[in-house]
Amino acid sequence: MRLSGVAFPGEKDRQEWETQQEEARRRDHRRIGTDQDLFFFNDVSPGSCFFLPKGAHIYNKLKDFIKSEYQRRGFTEVVTPTLYSTELWERSGHWEHYSENMFTVTSEGSQTYALKPMNCPAHCLMFEQRVRSWRELPLRWADFGALHRNELSGALGGLTRVRRFCQDDAHIFCMPEQLEEEIVSCLEFVRSVYRVFGFSFHCLLSTRPTPCLGDPEQWDRAEQQLQRSLQQFGEHWELNPGDGAFYGPKIDIQIKDALNRQHQCATIQLDFQLPIRFDLQYVGRDGQKHRPVMIHRAVLGSLERMLAILAENFGGKWPLWLSPAQIMVIPVGGNCDKVNRTTGFMADVSDDQGSTLNKKIRSAQLAQYNYIFVVGDQEVESGTVNVRSRRGKQLGRRTTEEVLTSLTRLRDSRSNTDEF
Ligand SMILES: [Zn+2]
Repeated sequence: MRLSGVAFPGEKDRQEWETQQEEARRRDHRRIGTDQDLFFFNDVSPGSCFFLPKGAHIYNKLKDFIKSEYQRRGFTEVVTPTLYSTELWERSGHWEHYSENMFTVTSEGSQTYALKPMNCPAHCLMFEQRVRSWRELPLRWADFGALHRNELSGALGGLTRVRRFCQDDAHIFCMPEQLEEEIVSCLEFVRSVYRVFGFSFHCLLSTRPTPCLGDPEQWDRAEQQLQRSLQQFGEHWELNPGDGAFYGPKIDIQIKDALNRQHQCATIQLDFQLPIRFDLQYVGRDGQKHRPVMIHRAVLGSLERMLAILAENFGGKWPLWLSPAQIMVIPVGGNCDKVNRTTGFMADVSDDQGSTLNKKIRSAQLAQYNYIFVVGDQEVESGTVNVRSRRGKQLGRRTTEEVLTSLTRLRDSRSNTDEF
């Protein structure tokens, strides 16, 4: 039997804690997921989420955001298989160290395949597929492929622990002398994404554990390079001695959400071992063969988990650009089908016939629609709408065109403001 208790130095601390617990319950992403019709789980596929249209909308907006950053930052997307022969996993070392977390499939009698728990080995195969020159480096390959990890069914819970998920995963293959600059770019990438979400963050540099693989001098050099990158980056960072992976040092980024809870989503991880296991080489300036360095990195981490963190961070009040319920049109008397069809937004028309106008507005606010358009005969005639924000602010009667132009600007700039 396990018992747990919480004690407080004073009554005030207890009350604060209770308020926070209540707030966390109110913001639980599983509750928001049900209330807003975003996603559900079914026992026929434990730990694998069914995203309904509104949940898929948020999921895809997150992906689109990262894809637009990829274009600006020199990443290219690749698409790789889900099933691989155990031959690959033996080569990568996963079979030896990670096989109990992998789902296997038998085909044609004897061949065993496993669903990928990560993308790295596939990207190594792509690297070695033909001779690589230093002129091509750094190669930055991004992959949104579905990953499967066999988490124990008792450990599954909502979107934070799942068996099937996608990451905004990428691998960078570079020359050792390019490492510092690449790490700084990765850190800047993370900062610009977290700024949009309003997350504060700090970095942890995890250095070599015991035991670890590889040459101590290589570890020294890499750890120093990472330190210099962090110094150049200029945000607060701390040393986390001995917490690196056995195959290389890493930088973990800890975010703080609106409830002051810490989460670790982004990671930038050096890997000396996979390039050795796959014998990856490039032809250098000197015509000789050299070993590239591999960086594993993710900004959002698992999209599923990030969606849960964001749902709780915003308490279900999604900013316009992510919102699956952007506009509720409430017709008064007249027919305003046209407004709905021409917007290009996630818009719905209130079909609640029996209620009063105030009640309709209230229920649209409770359903977290970012904006409510009230359209009566006068508005239809003059091509205007009467706009209210989710927080109840009256933005007044404006031409439909002006409103949609402003909302498009707010959405496309991923702004967090309501007013325009
Ligand atoms: Zn990786």
